[in-house]
Amino acid sequence: MVIKPKIRGFVCITAHPQGCAAHVQEQINLVKSRGPLKNGPRNVLVIGASTGYGLASRIAAAFGSGANTLGIFFERPSEEDRPATPGWYNTIAFSDAARAAGLKALNINGDAFSDDIKRQAIDLIRRELGPIDLIVYSLASPRRTHPRTGAVHKSVLKPVGQSYTNKTVDTDKGIVSQITIEPANEAEIADTAAVMGGEDWEMWIDALLAEGLVAPGATSMAYSYIGPEVTWAIYKNGTIGLAKNDLERAARKIDASLKAHGYGRAFISVNKALVTQASSAIPVVPLYISILYKIMKANGTHEGCIEQIQRLFATQLYGGAGLQFDDQGRVRIDDWEMRPEIQAEVARIWPQVTTENLASFTDIAGYRSEFLKLFGFGIPGINYEAEVEPHLPLT
Ligand code: NAD
Repeated sequence: MVIKPKIRGFVCITAHPQGCAAHVQEQINLVKSRGPLKNGPRNVLVIGASTGYGLASRIAAAFGSGANTLGIFFERPSEEDRPATPGWYNTIAFSDAARAAGLKALNINGDAFSDDIKRQAIDLIRRELGPIDLIVYSLASPRRTHPRTGAVHKSVLKPVGQSYTNKTVDTDKGIVSQITIEPANEAEIADTAAVMGGEDWEMWIDALLAEGLVAPGATSMAYSYIGPEVTWAIYKNGTIGLAKNDLERAARKIDASLKAHGYGRAFISVNKALVTQASSAIPVVPLYISILYKIMKANGTHEGCIEQIQRLFATQLYGGAGLQFDDQGRVRIDDWEMRPEIQAEVARIWPQVTTENLASFTDIAGYRSEFLKLFGFGIPGINYEAEVEPHLPLT
């Protein structure tokens, strides 16, 4: 099959296996080039391990610290005339590289919110890994079937309290326009918290603790985002932000419960805004990311998921000065993004951007190439005209 990008709105419905493998290898190379972590993790569970921040966490643990990893993710295999999703190919590439390096790379493809997948994970950990010393919770999902009630909760990306009007960009067409988003109702607010809040993270930790599969001194972390005021109505103060508040509540509860068992700690790391499948679905945010990339690249402080997570591991989690918490008890690896001089420049550019000047005021080109890269496209050295085998088994 010759595989080309097919973009539909904010998703690409195709993925290139060799391109995804090259993207994973690039991240492995970055981690190796930064040298080994001191006292890094040995046995790692990543929930949401196949793309974005979760994949970067898995790579940083395996190739920065020689960790054995279990990755949980929800990806679609190839079909007769359709390639698999990128996370499927990423995981094959990661697993091949980790196993070649003598590391265990265990995978479970299925719904992390379900009791069944938690049970499968526990059996595998007991059989193959032993107690876990790092649990990364990095799910981004549009829906959750609740394992107790059977209710299907769908998350929405909406403001809360009042409607919100701001600029947004159609990243595919390059058109800047005004968008007005009506506020969420109570049910939508609760549903979004049920999907993207902390209840499922708590269920994972409770299940592992009950089975004695958390190692002494273990860390568990989940990822969040705050960002600048220009996005607050849709992010921090919107439905997703309220769900993240619930994730912070869960972090405090899990931290207390790990400490009560004498086991370790749990916290939230606030990460930088980056192009991922999850963030591209949020209105307004891709325009902010395009401006941010331009400024941070010029400033020499731009990072991708792998640089963010490698820095988090090397300078805080497993080295450097140790964990540095803000006044809400969160780790801030978004510190470079939130520097006042960076944000002042975003605020200066934001009102000036139009469809006509998008290419010069923002890094829309960088946004697009990062987006395509998520699906394995636009990577140097890959012949996109050549036939490629799309049906690859994941073990
Ligand atoms: P992503 O879309 O790249 O990754 C989501 C992962 O979750 C994938 O591995 C996917 O397979 C998995 N997944 C989704 N539903 C699942 C299910 N039901 N069962 C099992 N696995 C499932 O997203 P991302 O941007 O890396 O987001 C990860 C976390 O990082 C989220 O909490 C997000 O809010 C946070 N974060 C993202 C950004 C950003 O700008 N992208 C910034 C800060 C924090």
